[in-house]
Amino acid sequence: MKKDVFKEDLIDDTIELRCKKCNMKIMEYKLQHDDKACALNGISLKCTRCKRIMILMRYTEAIIREGSAVADGRMVKKI
Ligand SMILES: [Zn+2]
Repeated sequence: MKKDVFKEDLIDDTIELRCKKCNMKIMEYKLQHDDKACALNGISLKCTRCKRIMILMRYTEAIIREGSAVADGRMVKKI
């Protein structure tokens, strides 16, 4: 899986979580390298730009990692 290798090489293991509506950075998540670990559960976040509220339920590392893409030289997951 060439793409995954590229992703791993590009960044340390921090993924930025950004608002999918306005692209505002919400928080950063540092991978613990355990796909089954429940990373974020019942976390309520408010976007400071567009005021959208997101509630993350049972987000595992796999969900965060697989949903992420490279943007601006960083790993970014839109939520
Ligand atoms: Zn927003």
